[in-house]
Amino acid sequence: MKICATCGTAYAEPLPQRCKICEDERQWVPASGQQWTDFASLTHRHQNKWQRLEEGLLSIKTVPNFAIGQRALLLRSPSGNILWDCIASLDAATAELIHALGGISAIAISHPHYYTTMQTWAAEFNAPIYLHADDREWVMGDSEAIHFWQGDVLPLNDEVDVVRLGGHFAGGCVLHWKANGGVLLAGDIIQVAPGKDAVSFMWSYPNMLPLSAATVSDILHRCEELDFSRLYGAFEGQDVAQKAKEVVRQSGARYLRCLA
Ligand SMILES: [Zn+2]
Ligand SMILES: [Zn+2]
Repeated sequence: MKICATCGTAYAEPLPQRCKICEDERQWVPASGQQWTDFASLTHRHQNKWQRLEEGLLSIKTVPNFAIGQRALLLRSPSGNILWDCIASLDAATAELIHALGGISAIAISHPHYYTTMQTWAAEFNAPIYLHADDREWVMGDSEAIHFWQGDVLPLNDEVDVVRLGGHFAGGCVLHWKANGGVLLAGDIIQVAPGKDAVSFMWSYPNMLPLSAATVSDILHRCEELDFSRLYGAFEGQDVAQKAKEVVRQSGARYLRCLA
């Protein structure tokens, strides 16, 4: 197995000439050409850093930064730990710590940029992976753990739903944790802006290509149906600690005004 050094996606050999995820307009291939790494050198050169975002919610982020640089979140619900989004590096310490916390009962991923080495995580924890069927073409390695779901809402347990919002990817999802006033784990389906009092929505982040007004309106409409007060984005520090639903509503209205 090799890993694309730009996006973190795992490929079985023989390798394609270029990573299909990175060739897509929503990612990028370096000007110097496609670069691959392997699992051993990744875990040798990088470690995973843990943070507690709030009670029951931990983040796992690889340092120094690797590929896109997102964090994975471990949600500790009463009916089992859920891994939201994924990172390429599953090192021995991370595996040992998660096993000690009770393992993983389900893996759910917002969109293909974070599929990374999900097959390896699923095998380590004997956990099913839930992916939206609309993004099936972006899965680069088969695994019996992968379950494709259709429609707009997938309940994982009494407290947790995966909700399709679309936008950045047709099957782009957020995780809605209904306990304690409501939390949205947004991946980069909703992107948190640096001031943390604004969010945005894009078709392609690296190539700075926006979404249509109709698509953003649809995302906003779907968010209105969810109760949440905090929102956690894909990257470290992207934490909207209060009034997150209002932040999404106001940012969405501003986006639509810009497009008009
Ligand atoms: Zn790639
Ligand atoms: Zn993305």
